Amino acid sequence: MSTTIEIPQNDLRAGYLAHKEAIDAAVAKVLKSGWYILGEEVSAFEKEFAAWLGASRAVGVANGTDALALILRAFDIGPGSSVVTVSHTAVATVAAIEMVGATPILVDIDADTYTMNAAELYGVLQTYRNGAEGVPPVKAVIPVHLYGHCAEVGDIMSLCSLFNLRLIEDCAQAHGARFFNKRLGLFGAAAAFSLYPTKNLGALGDGGVIAVNDPKLADRIMALRQYGWEERYISSHAGVNSRLDELQAAILRVKLKHLDAENERRRQIAARYDAALEGTGIVRPVVRERAEHVYHQYVVRTPKRDLVKEKLAGLGIGTNIHYPMPVHRQPAYLGRLTLGPSGCAVTEKAADEVLSLPMFPQMTDGQVDRVCEAMAGLKGMGFDEAA
Ligand SMILES: *Cc1c(COP(=O)(O)O)cnc(C)c1O
Repeated sequence: MSTTIEIPQNDLRAGYLAHKEAIDAAVAKVLKSGWYILGEEVSAFEKEFAAWLGASRAVGVANGTDALALILRAFDIGPGSSVVTVSHTAVATVAAIEMVGATPILVDIDADTYTMNAAELYGVLQTYRNGAEGVPPVKAVIPVHLYGHCAEVGDIMSLCSLFNLRLIEDCAQAHGARFFNKRLGLFGAAAAFSLYPTKNLGALGDGGVIAVNDPKLADRIMALRQYGWEERYISSHAGVNSRLDELQAAILRVKLKHLDAENERRRQIAARYDAALEGTGIVRPVVRERAEHVYHQYVVRTPKRDLVKEKLAGLGIGTNIHYPMPVHRQPAYLGRLTLGPSGCAVTEKAADEVLSLPMFPQMTDGQVDRVCEAMAGLKGMGFDEAA
């Protein structure tokens, strides 16, 4: 098909242009300062991000994958430990666990929210909490707050305290989302945020930030991110290099000021989509009771996903698939990861059926109208029938 995409699924340039003057000024200030890594901008961003989230401390790092890995390292989780997470996620979540030498165990998701199924987690913990043949004891659980919506944090927190495990939140897609009026990232021992350009709070390059409430843990992570230094040139711990740039921090400080308003705009767009999809038979995103979604992605599902994708493309509307292949089925991981008691059937089905519609805060009302019209046009096309 040769139709050009007129409404992209995401538009990073629009995110820059919306705040161009302030970003350009912030960048110029850093360029002139002569200080480019871990300086005043990073410290200020860490303070502002922690205050915005409601955490006592935040630590800037090189990217979201490192954020997860540094948290695991700070808890001495590595070879000889297992960490439970999901297979329906960015591969980064699983890569971070293997980066520190720990063993991932992947459990299935809920069909409606695409996040960790608490009953499956319970099953895994009963079997593997103290380890089993070829599977080291479980030390931590990493729920992923996928697409901008919380995992079942209440149940997961209870299981973590029952089995005495660290709860580490993967908040890479959930900046600003809430559960029971509390922002995600405040429910566990520590939380990892990616600041990759596509995220709700995105740098113009790589970046990540870790939120913690325990100041000793924050200090330890600050040392680990830079060769384990507590004092310059003297490593107290065996650390890594995972620093946030001054340029990115300065840009992020500008963007953080607009994050809540941009998340609100995402919710407005989602409400319009919800209404337009009514009666089409295409399944809309589910929002848990007492949860606030920030629509990192607006993800629908239908067994005829490929047909919907094609129809929208024909109308000039871009879509994307997050994610087309569960981690445990990808060539690098195939056949060598431990799965939960029921396998990952719900995950595998979701990967075949999910579709992400255009979603970015700078979408114009006209663009939203066009996507809504296109979706209303799918009514009566049999999307409510089984495949
Ligand atoms: C983006 C993302 C990450 C990794 O972040 P990077 O900054 O790309 O390393 C981790 N987990 C999830 C769920 C993500 O979406």
